[in-house]
Amino acid sequence: MNDNIKKYKCRFCNSDAKYIETIKNKERGDMLINCGICGRYKYNHSMDLNKYTDEIAFYLYHNGVHCQENDIHNKATLNDKYAEYIWIDNKPHYYKDGIHFRDVSLNEIIAFNNINLEEMVLLILQNISSKSKYRGDTVSYNYEELASLYFAKRTISDENSGEIINKQIEYIAKYLISMGYVEFSKTSDPLSQYRQVILTFNGWKLVEKNNYDSSKSKDVFIAMSYDESLADTERTIRDVLIKLHYNPIVMKDVQHNHQIVPEMLYQIRKAKFVIADFTLQNNGAYYEAGYALGQNKEVIHLCREDELSNENSKLHFDIAQVNTIIWKDYKDLKEKLTNRIEATIT
Ligand SMILES: [Zn+2]
Repeated sequence: MNDNIKKYKCRFCNSDAKYIETIKNKERGDMLINCGICGRYKYNHSMDLNKYTDEIAFYLYHNGVHCQENDIHNKATLNDKYAEYIWIDNKPHYYKDGIHFRDVSLNEIIAFNNINLEEMVLLILQNISSKSKYRGDTVSYNYEELASLYFAKRTISDENSGEIINKQIEYIAKYLISMGYVEFSKTSDPLSQYRQVILTFNGWKLVEKNNYDSSKSKDVFIAMSYDESLADTERTIRDVLIKLHYNPIVMKDVQHNHQIVPEMLYQIRKAKFVIADFTLQNNGAYYEAGYALGQNKEVIHLCREDELSNENSKLHFDIAQVNTIIWKDYKDLKEKLTNRIEATIT
């Protein structure tokens, strides 16, 4: 590994990042980046990420691998027990060149950004609470960090971009004040007026209401298509879970429409782990699996074998990402799923 640390501007949050080269192959341009805002990440240079720089910045800030400035080689402790870096790609490389990665596909990043305002507010408050050393502590953010924290898009316009980012921050900050969730330290500088924040009693209450110790939960969220032809698949998954003393959670009545509804997110957060079956290529299952991954949940991916024989299937693209259980029939599904749960869920 080449440890030359060079200056680099983070293409997602636009702040000064550090990067270290790890692979000498210059044509591939492989490098690990350590950004003070986005954390430690790597991306596939052949992917067109320009359209999604805001979404990626938000994902990395809220779900990324963060560490202290001079701590490049140490394992991060925040959010993820194993990953040293996030790798944005549609292919798997959990472990490479002696480094642990958390793989995330563009689909998962887009799914994370499909959250509604209420969920956004909760993530902001959770972030402030995680940085508070004690209740009533004043937490400081720098300006570039504020944009990621408040989901303020940086790419809307080149002119007065600072002003436009500030407007977005202000919009959410004023809501937080009006709900009594936060207090900001008074300052005369409009750019820095939201940099010092205290989570109020109401703010803590909302965060605590949403903090579950899901490790002890018996609920398992099942994400799949609810097409009638899959009724027996669903029944098989339920039977496996019940036999292993878990409580299957299925939300049939929820329509997706590219927006994840809060009730579903609530059920996923509460669940111990998630089972996602991609047979019939249900978009909802993608969103739910993506959200669950962002919440550091174990996600078991399933797919019926015949789905893979479709050459145009986008599953080829995504399913390679994780160790998917490919099943032939219900007996096969039952056996493989039981074995996987027993081997991976503790
Ligand atoms: Zn960054």
